[in-house]
Amino acid sequence: MPLDTTIGPELLALRDVTLSDVARITGGRLVGEDAPIRHLRPLSADSIPDGSLAYASGHFVDELANAPFEAAIVPASGVGASRSVIVHEDPQVAFFALQRSLAESGAYPTIASHRGDRVRIADSAVVHDGTVIGDDVRIGDHVVVMPNSVLDDGVEIQAGTVVGEPGFQVAGDGTGRYLVPHAGGVHLRAGVSIGANCAVDRALFSTFTTLGADTMLDNLVHVAHDVMIGDRCTLTASVELSGSVVLEDDVWLAPRTCCNQFVRFGRGAYTGTGSVVVRDVPAFTLVAGSPARVFGRVCLCRAKLPSDDGPVECGSCGRRFLIDGDAVAEAA
Ligand SMILES: [Zn+2]
Repeated sequence: MPLDTTIGPELLALRDVTLSDVARITGGRLVGEDAPIRHLRPLSADSIPDGSLAYASGHFVDELANAPFEAAIVPASGVGASRSVIVHEDPQVAFFALQRSLAESGAYPTIASHRGDRVRIADSAVVHDGTVIGDDVRIGDHVVVMPNSVLDDGVEIQAGTVVGEPGFQVAGDGTGRYLVPHAGGVHLRAGVSIGANCAVDRALFSTFTTLGADTMLDNLVHVAHDVMIGDRCTLTASVELSGSVVLEDDVWLAPRTCCNQFVRFGRGAYTGTGSVVVRDVPAFTLVAGSPARVFGRVCLCRAKLPSDDGPVECGSCGRRFLIDGDAVAEAA
């Protein structure tokens, strides 16, 4: 089994792609030095590895100025002295056309296959090459595991679930719309348990949609591309997480909770049934409704906490917390 630390963007970095190639593929014009490009990333990315290319247009060109990208696709107005750029009249169209071309031409690698010990895979399941299956993994009937999926030790997946299909990124190029090919993967950390008929989509670029250790999914849960889920989270029936949602550890989502893309849940956050979450949820906070609003503070044991600022103690389990407005932290 590879160590968790090896499951990162470098595993899926582009090979042998330069800015000259980007100019040729997109029909853009290179201004500045040629350089290797190893990753594509949106301007909003949390982490930007060396050799990353972004795109920006309109007022986002200003946002690009101080971001650590190797290069970017920009309109003519975005040419500056500090980094090489590809000038294109429609940077977004060019960026997704680039991703499509790179993914379809094999410029992205696929991870090496590995099979652990005591693995049980149902005869009707399909586990593709380019997947890492750890020890004691159990895969149920009609499960599909796509390339670039990493299942750490003890992962269990029930019937009908699909891990690693492309996410839903729609782009257009003036002649029509298309689904942008995905080059990333899925990483299910040790002890993840997934119910029946769930979908966990692979990441769009060279990253992994990730479910943290001992996280559990009920049936019919949808996890979109680039979602990052921490350890010991619980996603009950029909939860829907849109792209790039982040759950810190110990989050509990009630049935039919759905979340806008990029929403972030702090540690121990908790939702009521049918919540429609459109903005970030602070740690140890209960939200419910549509759109979801705050109904108070909750302990990891799910008991309600006092809402007053200052140190508070859970009346049920005795854990202690420090509340300061929206910020709730477990006391040391
Ligand atoms: Zn408690």
